[in-house]
Amino acid sequence: MSQNKSQQDAVAWACGTEPPWSSPLLDEHRPGTYHCALCDAALFASDSKFNSGSGWPSFFQTKTDLETQDDHRHGMTRTEIKCPSCYAHLGHVFPDGPPPTGLRYCVNGIVLRFLPDGGETQA
Ligand SMILES: [Zn+2]
Repeated sequence: MSQNKSQQDAVAWACGTEPPWSSPLLDEHRPGTYHCALCDAALFASDSKFNSGSGWPSFFQTKTDLETQDDHRHGMTRTEIKCPSCYAHLGHVFPDGPPPTGLRYCVNGIVLRFLPDGGETQA
């Protein structure tokens, strides 16, 4: 658990990236909502999730407006996405997604928490 937490911190606060194919959310196909794992803001709906083949959970639409910021690291210009509530780094958005938005929100699963529709017991 503590390793998971430090890995989460590295992604959220140091703009880290989890290893591709490491997120259990890649195999999550139930209807529900993806929340920020740090502050619980609802970020993505399951019906906007798609299989991008990138190795990270991917969405073509957000449930709420995210904070965005140009990211020029690694010699590329990308658009970083952040949680609008706690400003945790989530991942990047790319202009090569499927219709209707044409966007691909590429998100680190470790900073997401999935809540299935109908609820899972809270405690
Ligand atoms: Zn958050």
